[in-house]
Amino acid sequence: RAKQEGKNRFCYYSTKMDQAIRKYHQIERQLKEALNSEGFYLIYQPQVDIASGKIVGVEALLRVDEYIALDFNPSEFIPIAEESELINRIGEWVFHESCRQVRHWLDESGTAPLVAINLSRRRLLDEYFPERLTEIIAGYDLEPCHFELEITETIFSQMSESNCQVISRLQEMGFLIAIDDFGTGYSSLANLKHFNVDKLKVDRSFVSDIAKNESDRAITEASVNLAHSLGLKVIAEGVETREQLEILREMGCDEMQGHLFSPPIPPEKIQQMILEHSLENLW
Ligand code: C2E
Ligand code: MG
Ligand code: MG
Ligand code: MG
Repeated sequence: RAKQEGKNRFCYYSTKMDQAIRKYHQIERQLKEALNSEGFYLIYQPQVDIASGKIVGVEALLRVDEYIALDFNPSEFIPIAEESELINRIGEWVFHESCRQVRHWLDESGTAPLVAINLSRRRLLDEYFPERLTEIIAGYDLEPCHFELEITETIFSQMSESNCQVISRLQEMGFLIAIDDFGTGYSSLANLKHFNVDKLKVDRSFVSDIAKNESDRAITEASVNLAHSLGLKVIAEGVETREQLEILREMGCDEMQGHLFSPPIPPEKIQQMILEHSLENLW
């Protein structure tokens, strides 16, 4: 009997595993299709200076067209892209597309916000990555200082010697570097000091309970103070309520990003929003 049960359990797990593998292949196929048929697009979420209410940057976030898949979000497909090596082609596309957009903004109005781009782990393994990036950017007649590269704290805390060299070269070339999802990884203070990164992004998981949970508030405040004592800017992600914004303002947090100000939006709306800079309207 026990043997029979064990066997059933094995079947149950292997069915689950089959399903997971099938799902993996399906996502991989959809990503390939998106690459081959212009099925990706970028939307941009404003980053706002808390003191002035002005938009100081935007984060580019990847989306897949609905004709390829419904409710297909990056938290689901980026890890699979990363594992299947499709991430390099996708990352290249993201760079071209954001350069094209910055070029368009500049040509249209003479100004463009700083654009933050998420880097995957694999990009840092490519020792020619910094050169390729500068080449792409130069192709649009842009400078590295138009871009901020976001590296998650988890990736940042697990970097090898050669990853470190890639980051240093990106910095030398003039790219700004932000540590994304700060508080969820294990970066050493020595690393933060050594790289002299430009910005810490406090993870949404701390911000969302900042008004109710004392530990989350303490972690956020410690991150703000750490950033400032190292001379870095600090931005809170996932700000959804005025109460959260008020607490962050009191802590001295520099910038905010979140649905309270705006969700990610299509690029055509960004310029208009910059002109209106409507954080003031929230007060
Ligand atoms: P992330 O870099 O931490 O991006 C912030 C995520 O939080 C975005 O989710 C954004 O839509 C969401 N968000 C912003 N404000 C709020 C808020 O007030 N409330 C809530 N509930 N959510 C908010 P998204 O666009 O689904 O992206 C998820 C993750 O996927 C990103 O996390 C990033 O790690 C990754 N990702 C997105 N685009 C790219 C890309 O082009 N390349 C790479 N390598 N990763 C990307
Ligand atoms: Mg990010
Ligand atoms: Mg983040
Ligand atoms: Mg996050």
